[in-house]
Amino acid sequence: MTINLTDAKKKHHLYNCIAAANAAKYVADEYTCALGLQASYSHKPDRVFDNEEWHLNHSIAVEKSIEYLKTNFPGILIFDNESVKIKQRIGKATLFGIPDIIAVNNNKLYVVDGKSGRAKGYHRYQASLYALMLLKQNVASEIGEVFLGYYDPKLKLNNFNMVSLGGHNEIQGIWSGEAKKKIVNLANAIVSDQELEARPTATNCQWCGWKNRCSVPYEESEELLDVFAGF
Ligand code: SF4
Repeated sequence: MTINLTDAKKKHHLYNCIAAANAAKYVADEYTCALGLQASYSHKPDRVFDNEEWHLNHSIAVEKSIEYLKTNFPGILIFDNESVKIKQRIGKATLFGIPDIIAVNNNKLYVVDGKSGRAKGYHRYQASLYALMLLKQNVASEIGEVFLGYYDPKLKLNNFNMVSLGGHNEIQGIWSGEAKKKIVNLANAIVSDQELEARPTATNCQWCGWKNRCSVPYEESEELLDVFAGF
């Protein structure tokens, strides 16, 4: 076993799931450690993300995104924040997500994910995945538009940027057949009996919640190569 789960907190079996954000990171190659994802499916890591500054900035990102929707889509029906929890099958496993903002206008679905900090590649996969999951639940007949609402006061005072990922066709295009296949294969492997491969890299291990229990976490080498050796 590369991750020691002996005394780790088990999730209730009804809550065993792949988080939509993790699925998005995996597809975007921003967290590729299948072993870490397998551990997170059924267990809670010791270190949970709890950053007050992030929470504050995220709530401002959500507030500003709601203002944007109300201004640009008069009469839009906005669901209460994080009131819809989506749980669906993905291959033989379960996928779970809580979108920040869900809205419906003229039977079209609008989804916004509020983001504090700089843009990352996986954000578009995450927000569009929420929209595709909600469409399966018949929240609306088609996707109107999906947005990422970025707020980062460190970048610029009062900085807020609403980025559109597009409408129905663009969102379907983000999750190509290849991307879907990749995540279904991962999901099936996670719930199989096989122990999945660890991928210790600087990017994977930096924020991994399993670092203290993992026997092969990435360690930065202090030894530097001399680029001009011999001169
Ligand atoms: S610490 Fe690194 S190798 Fe270990 S589970 Fe996490 S990402 Fe994978």
